[in-house]
Amino acid sequence: MQRAGKLRGTVALDERWAVPRGLFFAAKKMKIALHDSDATTYPNYAIMKISAYHKKAGDKVEVFDPFYRDSYDLVYSSKVFDFTPENQYLPRNTIKGGTGYGAYNDLPDEVDSAFPDYSIYPKVDYAVGFITRGCINNCDFCVVPKKEGKIRPYRSVKDLIRSDSNKLVLMDNNILASDFGIRELEKIAGSGIEVDLNQGMDIMLLTPEIIDLLSRIKWINYIRFSCDKMYQVDYFAKWMPLLRKKKMHNKLFIYLLVRRDVNDAATRVEELKKLHSNICIYAQAERNSSKGVVPTKEQLEFAQRYVYGRLYKRETFEEYKRKRGLKYVSGEPVNDESPFFARSMTDLSCYGGKK
Ligand code: SF4
Repeated sequence: MQRAGKLRGTVALDERWAVPRGLFFAAKKMKIALHDSDATTYPNYAIMKISAYHKKAGDKVEVFDPFYRDSYDLVYSSKVFDFTPENQYLPRNTIKGGTGYGAYNDLPDEVDSAFPDYSIYPKVDYAVGFITRGCINNCDFCVVPKKEGKIRPYRSVKDLIRSDSNKLVLMDNNILASDFGIRELEKIAGSGIEVDLNQGMDIMLLTPEIIDLLSRIKWINYIRFSCDKMYQVDYFAKWMPLLRKKKMHNKLFIYLLVRRDVNDAATRVEELKKLHSNICIYAQAERNSSKGVVPTKEQLEFAQRYVYGRLYKRETFEEYKRKRGLKYVSGEPVNDESPFFARSMTDLSCYGGKK
């Protein structure tokens, strides 16, 4: 289930990059600056590939420093989130890409095929990547169908893994919808590779066989699913007994989209709690600047304090509001959401020592 760029966005990948290439490079070695606009805890996949591409061409590559902005031959900037502010010091001819810039095209093939240069994120000890791109669905709040189209194979696990790490963070939007994706997950199971599928999987695509496969995978922390729509709760109810039997229930991490109808989200939370009283939920208020979708104060209160603060585990949202005297005017939008979610979604420690 997709979160990139607009909601649970993780790492930029989809770019309209006008990367100059070919003979141009042979003629002149350049000084390249890379700018990761969002600066989240995740490495920027596109930036790492551009770095690798230019280093292979013999160019000097460094992180963008505004102090030296006039010394660069080329500056690249990637932006995942549309709410990330523009860096005013970027040169006017900066090559920009990423959903945050409203760009949906991929990197050129010769850049996209480069193995990411992880050296520019020295604190990152895992590989990132995609096994599949695209999705079989067309959810109205999601940018994936527009930017990636229908699901298709992208890379094998062996092409993603780092030689110095057995950890792999996959950003696939709907891997269980792809036979190729499932075959690659089979390769991961029992391989010693630790995985985080950080965009969440589709609970509706589970089968006993898929649950068995997932139970054999070594997860970095969580097994992530989405519950963005009320009818998905039925599938959690259907599969929870088997997930519990396989001892996977205390690794579940449920993404929950919060749209204008906050009661809908609150009901989904209560239904999930009935299935697993200690369930780990991570809510995100819908926002999409390009469509003018801005979260209300109530959406943000629900996502950022009630759910993120784990208060959902001990009270309903109605109780939460009543105790605090919170009242909301229907549809009142605000525009002050920060990249709070992107920085915090992996820091959650939902299950404590109860696994
Ligand atoms: S299932 Fe819906 S939300 Fe998830 S990636 Fe596909 S279109 Fe987007």
